[in-house]
Amino acid sequence: MCILKCMRYFDAHLHIVPDKVLMQAHENGVGTFICNAAKQKEWQDVLDVSKRVLGVWTCLGIHPWYINEATSDWRIQLEALLIENPLTMIGEIGLDKKRPFFEEQKRFFKEQLKLAQKLKRSVHIHCVGAWSEMIQILSQYPDVKVLFHRFNGDEFVVQKLRFFNSFFSVMEKKYIPVIPDYRLLVESDAPDGPIGGPDKIPALVQALELNPDYLNQNLRLFLDDR
Ligand SMILES: [Zn+2]
Repeated sequence: MCILKCMRYFDAHLHIVPDKVLMQAHENGVGTFICNAAKQKEWQDVLDVSKRVLGVWTCLGIHPWYINEATSDWRIQLEALLIENPLTMIGEIGLDKKRPFFEEQKRFFKEQLKLAQKLKRSVHIHCVGAWSEMIQILSQYPDVKVLFHRFNGDEFVVQKLRFFNSFFSVMEKKYIPVIPDYRLLVESDAPDGPIGGPDKIPALVQALELNPDYLNQNLRLFLDDR
């Protein structure tokens, strides 16, 4: 197997997948994975994956689809785990207008942004149909570095989001022209993303006609200075 140093590719956003899927991606030259929890009961599993497999960065958070599964002390538990794991980021969090309890979603989102600001952690964001609320809320947390995963906004949204410390991760070519080069990342969103597992990232980068070296520079920019 290749050593991590010679691995040219990364997956900026995925969820828990079997270890063997990550190993397979290693063999294809993917050396870095940012593994997100969607719900509270996945937090420990995400941390455990990073102890078993090289190159796994971790994000803990509560996705807007799963806020109703959170325990009453979720925020205290999340803060404790983040303090215990100083490199861990916050994700996947966000807003989804197509799902119920939008006001409650906003409350969870803001609580997690507050933690991100306090503990100086980056956040991985899911946003569907709620760009104006997203921009309005993020403007209250200007220091937080954000990654919009599976970015689906237009050039007007990007113009506004450029004022924040934003990165944009994509799988589709149509969004690339509106994103500043140095803010662009790629992802698989495995196991439910359309490209399949993280082992498909090199083929994706090629299909999108992107240069893996500048993508790596962007990733370093995103992961550094936290
Ligand atoms: Zn995701």
